[in-house]
Amino acid sequence: MNNHLIKRPNDCNVLIVDDEKAICDILKNTLKPLYNVTTCCNGNDAFKLIDSLDYDIVITDLKLPDVSGLDILSYAKGKDEFTEVIMITGYASVETATLAINLGVYSYLLKPLVITDLLIQMERAVASRLFHLKSISLMQQSDYMSPEVRVHLQDITSLYFFIRKLMLSLEIPEIMRITLEEANQKMNSVLCVISVNLLGFSEAFAMPSSGEIELETLKKLLANNQKTAFPQADKTKLLSGDIPIFIYKGRQGQSPDFNSLNPQSIPMMVTDRLVGTLTIFHDMQNGRDVDQNQFLYVFTSIVSSIIEHGYTALQARRQAKTDSLTGIANHRLFHETLEREIARANRKKGKFSLILIDIDNFKKINDTYGHQIGDAVIIDLTKRISAIIRTGDVLARYGGEEFGLILPESNKTGANTLAKRILETISSKDLIYSLKQIHYTVSIGLVVYDGSKPVTKNLLIAAADKALYSSKNNGKNRITIGRVQ
Ligand code: GH3
Ligand code: MG
Ligand code: MG
Repeated sequence: MNNHLIKRPNDCNVLIVDDEKAICDILKNTLKPLYNVTTCCNGNDAFKLIDSLDYDIVITDLKLPDVSGLDILSYAKGKDEFTEVIMITGYASVETATLAINLGVYSYLLKPLVITDLLIQMERAVASRLFHLKSISLMQQSDYMSPEVRVHLQDITSLYFFIRKLMLSLEIPEIMRITLEEANQKMNSVLCVISVNLLGFSEAFAMPSSGEIELETLKKLLANNQKTAFPQADKTKLLSGDIPIFIYKGRQGQSPDFNSLNPQSIPMMVTDRLVGTLTIFHDMQNGRDVDQNQFLYVFTSIVSSIIEHGYTALQARRQAKTDSLTGIANHRLFHETLEREIARANRKKGKFSLILIDIDNFKKINDTYGHQIGDAVIIDLTKRISAIIRTGDVLARYGGEEFGLILPESNKTGANTLAKRILETISSKDLIYSLKQIHYTVSIGLVVYDGSKPVTKNLLIAAADKALYSSKNNGKNRITIGRVQ
């Protein structure tokens, strides 16, 4: 019998690569009673060690003196794709995480190291390693394994690695990229498109198997495939531009021929909820068999669930920063943005403006028309202002009927012009709501920060608030430009 089948956790060879001796020692002392541990402190030595012995697990620091931990990861995977690699990192950088996930990293250990986390990760990584060694070893015993069984086992193994990649990805764009790539590869398709419609998110993602696809070509393709690709409502919105489409590049190489393709759409369901549609496009000659279809359904049900989780997390992150009545930024995001703009202005010696807006006599509106119409006025105001600001500007509901508007890189003239347009857009037209005609106005306080004298966020808000107060005292429906002390 192949000795892989009888390998036990304490037979596992573990390589630890870290240039900090203290970390190497902690890891070594913790793991030595359980596994065969080797340590080294740079990339060059690590490469030599990997060449000389079959390591089951490699734990590597991301930052080494001579190479990156990513190089160690790809070297170890190059020698044996089932070696599990755990990356030690002091900071969570999105780009590094994406690269490491693509290269097949098992997991991360964050500094400062927590020994119990390390032991848990190791136990799982070792289990994963041994599970795969067993599969390989079974597959190698061709005496009692038919080619079909081997292909099936390979499918299961690749599905496992795919799910692992997905679970490490936290952001929707990354989850979509991995899914589209895998779908194209597994289904041998020319193009894959996912459209989602859940939790208030409506968007689509597309990737050709290789090269690139232009938005116009993609739209033409969707328009030409009358019935099969997407439910009609989704498609109409995609084509009209109501649903944004994000296009990814395929693997390197020539773009395929997008003429005469054959689409197949699979509804993405999580229990009884429809979360979106996955559509794969094949060229006409390339028929698919029953096995591939089965795989596609298994694949789709897994990704549907992970995609739904991704959007639930995204929604939670957004909700923490949006005002529920108006959907604009809330108090928290206002403060975060202001802090970021102050830091940016200080760094670049740049400018930005802060505008505070307060509805005039709002209490009277509430008293006259009722709270519901008061709410409608608040919503109306955010719509009118949102329609005239630029993309990078941040409008936030600062308090009940008070709003903050942060205008990056804007000077006094620019901010004052916009403030005038805000007064104008609100006072020039009444709001018609529930057969009532409501006239309202706002008062504005404006300050410009030029980065010349450091200020705190609170000082800046206080200056804008003082200017706003002057506008109120001087008759409302006006702008006051304040001074930053
Ligand atoms: P001024 O012109 O000086 O700004 O007076 P005002 O009446 O607008 O201001 P005041 O601060 O006296 O009253 C604000 C009112 O806004 C009191 C509060 O009940 C009401 N308010 C706060 N949040 C909401 C909300 O979400 N919806 C509604 N309908 N009313 C709100
Ligand atoms: Mg008010
Ligand atoms: Mg007020």
